[in-house]
Amino acid sequence: MRFCPQCGQRLISYTIEGRERPHCVPEQGGCGFIDFGHYSLGVGGIVMKRDTAAILLIQRNQEPNRGYWTLPGGFVESNETTDAAVVREVKEETGLHCVVVGLAGFRNRPDPDVNTSYVVFLLRIRGGQLIQETTEEIIQAGFYTLAQVQTMEQLTPLSRELAVAALTDRLRILHAITVPGLHGLPPVTLFMGDGE
Ligand SMILES: [Zn+2]
Repeated sequence: MRFCPQCGQRLISYTIEGRERPHCVPEQGGCGFIDFGHYSLGVGGIVMKRDTAAILLIQRNQEPNRGYWTLPGGFVESNETTDAAVVREVKEETGLHCVVVGLAGFRNRPDPDVNTSYVVFLLRIRGGQLIQETTEEIIQAGFYTLAQVQTMEQLTPLSRELAVAALTDRLRILHAITVPGLHGLPPVTLFMGDGE
């Protein structure tokens, strides 16, 4: 980032909190903005079919990784929680209405331009119909068994790891509790191991 997103002035590199950070310097007429870095937050959902041991996967119709298979999911909007986002994204991509069972995994990667995090939830189907047609976002969606997952080409390594764990009963889930907010903020959901 070379210019201030708030006032448009050129940013100058300053040592702030022990690091060089682009700064909109007030002493030079700037607004004081500090670029603390860029973060993105994505979510994925593990959805199992009840009667058969099969997991919901989608084939991407968008870059990055167009044509690859992954868990359904997407990006978290700034005004929603991760657990709300995964329910919304799974519904949008696959047509299935789900509820969150718990937190199944987390991965983080500090790329040069953005620090990306990906949160994976175990979901349970409550209703809806699986979308059959190709959309702008996905080529196809379906349920796949362990044997199918193990031979599936173009399945992302992360989704493969999670899918195999889910299909072989190796997932361990952190469950949600509600914790009161401090200073008038609303209650928050905390995913926590409960010793089981
Ligand atoms: Zn500024």
